[in-house]
Amino acid sequence: MSKLVFNFKLKYSKRTKTPKNFLGGKGANLAEMEKLGLPVPPGFTISTKVCDFFYNNNKKLNQKIVKEIKKELKIIEKQSKKKLGDLKNPLLVSVRSGARVSMPGMMDTILNLGLNDETVLALADKTSNMRFAKDSYRRFIQMYANVVMGVDSYNFEELIENYKLTKGVLLDTDLDENDWDGLIKDFKEVVKKKTKKKFPQNVFNQLLGAISAVFLSWESNRAKIYRRLNHIPSSWGTAVNVQSMVFGNMGKDCATGVVFTRSPSDGSNKIYGEYLINAQGEDVVAGTRTPQYITKSANKNSLSKEKSMEEFMPKVFKQLKKILKKLENHYRDMQDVEFTVEKNKLWILQTRSGKRTAKSAVKIAIDMVKEKLISKREAILRIDPNSLDSLLHPTLDEKSEINVIAKGLPASPGAASGKVVFTSDEAERLNDTMQDTILVRVETSPEDIQGMHAAKGILTSRGGMTSHAAVVARGMGRPCVSGSNEIDINYEEKTFKTSNLTIKEGEIITIDGSTGRIILGQVSTIKPEISGDFSRLMSWADKYRKLKIRTNSETPTDTKTARDFGAEGIGLCRTEHMFFDEERILSVRQMILSKSRNDRDKALSKLLPYQKKDFVDIFKIMNGLPVTVRLLDPPLHEFLPKNENEISDVAKYLDLPVKELEGRINELHEHNPMLGHRGCRLGISFPEIYEMQCRAIFEALVECKNKKIKSTLPEIMIPLVSTEAEIKIMKDLVIKVARQVQNENKIKIKFLVGTMIELPRAAIKAQDIAKHAEFFSFGTNDLTQTTFGISRDDSGKFLNDYIENKIFDIDPFISIDDGVGDLIKIATQKGRKQNKKIKFGICGEHGGDPKSIDFCSKIGLDYVSCSPYRVPVARIAAAQAQLKK
Ligand code: PEP
Ligand code: MG
Repeated sequence: MSKLVFNFKLKYSKRTKTPKNFLGGKGANLAEMEKLGLPVPPGFTISTKVCDFFYNNNKKLNQKIVKEIKKELKIIEKQSKKKLGDLKNPLLVSVRSGARVSMPGMMDTILNLGLNDETVLALADKTSNMRFAKDSYRRFIQMYANVVMGVDSYNFEELIENYKLTKGVLLDTDLDENDWDGLIKDFKEVVKKKTKKKFPQNVFNQLLGAISAVFLSWESNRAKIYRRLNHIPSSWGTAVNVQSMVFGNMGKDCATGVVFTRSPSDGSNKIYGEYLINAQGEDVVAGTRTPQYITKSANKNSLSKEKSMEEFMPKVFKQLKKILKKLENHYRDMQDVEFTVEKNKLWILQTRSGKRTAKSAVKIAIDMVKEKLISKREAILRIDPNSLDSLLHPTLDEKSEINVIAKGLPASPGAASGKVVFTSDEAERLNDTMQDTILVRVETSPEDIQGMHAAKGILTSRGGMTSHAAVVARGMGRPCVSGSNEIDINYEEKTFKTSNLTIKEGEIITIDGSTGRIILGQVSTIKPEISGDFSRLMSWADKYRKLKIRTNSETPTDTKTARDFGAEGIGLCRTEHMFFDEERILSVRQMILSKSRNDRDKALSKLLPYQKKDFVDIFKIMNGLPVTVRLLDPPLHEFLPKNENEISDVAKYLDLPVKELEGRINELHEHNPMLGHRGCRLGISFPEIYEMQCRAIFEALVECKNKKIKSTLPEIMIPLVSTEAEIKIMKDLVIKVARQVQNENKIKIKFLVGTMIELPRAAIKAQDIAKHAEFFSFGTNDLTQTTFGISRDDSGKFLNDYIENKIFDIDPFISIDDGVGDLIKIATQKGRKQNKKIKFGICGEHGGDPKSIDFCSKIGLDYVSCSPYRVPVARIAAAQAQLKK
């Protein structure tokens, strides 16, 4: 086994080209900062490889690694001129996780390690500050007992609260060294009572315990959920960083903070950060105290009475600013930096690429190209396509009546309305029944991650812009208003109070994450507009991409939205969705429930003018771009009347006794409608339905021509084909109707006929089907369903178990599975062999998923088709796919 533990000063880059994979992001960046000559407290990194060994060794560190840790510890003792456990000059260390990509707050951290009943006195002596030493020791006991020994933190919090009550004080800072001393004794007793073990006094054992706990936290529930949501493989493992402590809590000449080199919310080129005087890093991140701004200008805009760092520590601020510039130029990206000031000396504890909103990401990418820091290619590759979603979501309609009841910090943009809930469980429960919620918490913790995901928005009463709630919501693209001290939350009563209102659980509120407003009731929203930096980035992306981007759309509104977002055609117009309208549904039901051809013809003749008008509208909006119209593919259960009222309405409409209608519904009942009488099977049984649809398309073309509307070359798509005979019969039908309309109108009609490939047999026999198809569009929703034999409608109930058990890395209905991918490859190869001119596209939901788009680009499809709001996402993802080739 080669070396696995590395001092920050060691030139690891010679050993590995992928330091982040090996040392984790934090470890690699600490080493990089050492190289740049920045003030980094000495330390070492235990490689991600050790995480693997740890889990393969019964969750224990093996002797070889323990030996390496001992050796490296000696080196940092030399570098820091302190010694772990020393009674004169004790070294204290922090032990932190550090995966390949940052997973903020998802794993464990231990600070102030190395304190015991004796070293605490040495620390007090050395710093001439007994209160500080005792405060650090109680923090350490609390953290270590929680993370390593599994004692719930509230046991300790409760003791502190009681202590303050008895003493009649409000703040922790009102407690003196004797108070902490008393509490330390109580804390140790709690540990003994809860774990039947004494709090460890051997400092090296403390260190090994902490390292093991950090490795264990890689498999904690919250880390697993975060990985699942962010598609991070569990095989990556985490590294562990052991670093000598510096103290931001030794007095008024000390501070700790987090700073971004540019604004993480709007991307403006100004440093943005928060700090706390006389505090440790955890206080800023945990949101337990509301921090101050770093710069004078940011502070001026806030109502804070405290001084900014720029004013309070001008010298250190200047030095920090210089370092930030150096870091940004070095990494050529916006950095998120943690620092501590110990007795006016600045230390940099960590740097990483800063998480940012989509708005900020786009602005920074464009600005950095202008500043010649990065190329256009890099700018495109820097954007996380999925994050653009949040830029495209509606914002509040300022014209509507708005009753602002309180304000907080604009932590993550976008507007959301929903029922107020106070627990993550409740947010999840309501989400399961399709109800929108706003999760209201004093502050969030990593335990809330599932609830934050389930909620439409997050509101907190405490914590700043870098608090857990703000960072996580931004990453998820959820609107968030944080740190609203104008609301007072009462978990027991399930209410929150503003200055003059009490809002109960279940009442609807709206939050505006772009301005920090909290509004009573539901507020209407408006469509976002694409402009400026966003369009520029999109136009760069368009230059690089080869894949065309189409949209799945069947209404004029969606079609218009998609065109505005840059769609280059319609890849799927689901005609059955054109019938959901109240007026039409009765005719559709009549068509489905008709027993005789005559009745069906009557229903169809009512539907024909609607269909025709829809097509004219859509062709007009698409202005000559291709439009793929899929003939009817209704899983029957979606269209049959279900409740008594619906049945009685239809019975009246059809002039049938209710009993007879119920009998007909029973006859049509299917045990497995997804695999039932749908798609072209319907066209085979009732050709008149497809004939009506084709007539509507062709007559729409005639109307366009007559009205001088720029027409389109329609692509008529036959769904759910599995055999050559099916496509042949259907194609003949289309041609027959085209001839009829042509003859009736004396106009030449041009069109293509193709099919969806959404059944494994169709993919495997693509050479036969391609004889009659001018295009294939992969319907990967059904192709995934039928390849796995997993019902699209029921998979939600058990897919999570499959992801938990690592059977699937990602839900195959979100990202194309490689087995389904193989079928697509087979179909394209066989199809192309049969018909050189055949066109290929994809129109399942995967058409808007960046990973799947990468796959489509690799295998040479012509286009992807996705929902309107995914079009910009697909444009960027397609460019990235091309650039990565
Ligand atoms: C598909 O199956 O992928 C598809 C696009 O069709 P639908 O979702 O309408 O079944
Ligand atoms: Mg389908």
